[in-house]
Amino acid sequence: MILHMDMDAFFASVEQRDHPTLKNKPVIISGRSKRSVVSTASYEARKFGIHSAMPVFMAQRLCRDLVIIPGNMEKYRCESGKIMKILAGFSPFVEQTSIDEAYMDLRGLNRLFGSPENIAATIKKNIEEHLGLTCSIGIAPVKFLAKIASDMNKPDGLTLISEDRMMSFIEGLPIGKISGIGKQAAKQMETLQIKTLGDIRQYPLSVLTAKFGKAGARLLELSNGIDQSKVTPEHIRKSISSETTLEDDTIDFEDIKRILLDRSQIVGALLRKKGLVCKTISIKIKLADFSQITRSRKLDTPVSSSSAIFNEALDLFKKIRLTKKIRLAGVGVSGLQDKNMPSQMSLLPIENTSKDQWESVDTAVDCISEKFGPHIIKKASLNLK
Ligand SMILES: [Mg+2]
Repeated sequence: MILHMDMDAFFASVEQRDHPTLKNKPVIISGRSKRSVVSTASYEARKFGIHSAMPVFMAQRLCRDLVIIPGNMEKYRCESGKIMKILAGFSPFVEQTSIDEAYMDLRGLNRLFGSPENIAATIKKNIEEHLGLTCSIGIAPVKFLAKIASDMNKPDGLTLISEDRMMSFIEGLPIGKISGIGKQAAKQMETLQIKTLGDIRQYPLSVLTAKFGKAGARLLELSNGIDQSKVTPEHIRKSISSETTLEDDTIDFEDIKRILLDRSQIVGALLRKKGLVCKTISIKIKLADFSQITRSRKLDTPVSSSSAIFNEALDLFKKIRLTKKIRLAGVGVSGLQDKNMPSQMSLLPIENTSKDQWESVDTAVDCISEKFGPHIIKKASLNLK
């Protein structure tokens, strides 16, 4: 069985815990810029129809007494660390998928901690006692259903989908509940009489792949209760990325270049901090009309220096023909491996002979940033305007 834990209105709950005057009040956590969106809404705020990703001005329109609090990521990260430590006390097979969500593989834990429900109840009790926060937990034979289950009885929920109940559950599961199926895709499926995951099975694989590509094949597996994805603990983490929504939409090349440089440095620093190197570099661009462009490239030799990541990111960006302004840009790396793990070396000599120098510059910058904060030192080109 697989367990999925999701904290309830995490950032808002932390603030309500730390500031008793905020208890039972509609509270949102959001950024300070004029384009800020709701990061987390307390359950009291949700009653007004406020939800995350909603622009703050809209939330204010829905609720006159709304309390808006700037987020304190450092504090939330610290709380998150404590939560993950509690989970790690049960099993090494924990995969953290966001600041307040994690999966746990329950295999082999019954002798130590009892039934899956017992484990879930103990985790909930520990988190509540030690941190004064509630979470919701879902348990299911496969990963994707565990996540759906954790969302079913929020807040403070505990939902189990047993092996026996799994197929009938799948039969009635609305297709839009599956992560990765957006509103558009769900609509398209409805025209094919696919409303629930069970409905997928009326089509053969060939039709599904013709219509939906790889996603079609995956959906057919899921509809049969098969999910290949496994709980992957942090040390085999698959990707790191960083993106930012711009204050103002832009099409200016120098502006975008600066953003890619800034993001490359953030991603590179995280990579090096974890002692990892990456084989694939990608960029993500969102245009003013909300359409999205992603590009990625696999390298012959894994890298970790910020300048190597930036050079690839910039090169990928230069190949895009921009016709509209952009509103978001990000850089990501994947194909991560341990820095010291022997890897196949490039057969060609490395063109950039200054590679090693850049790595030592990165290391020096990382040390300084660690001590004095992330923006104390940066590339001169980040300040040119
Ligand atoms: Mg949550």
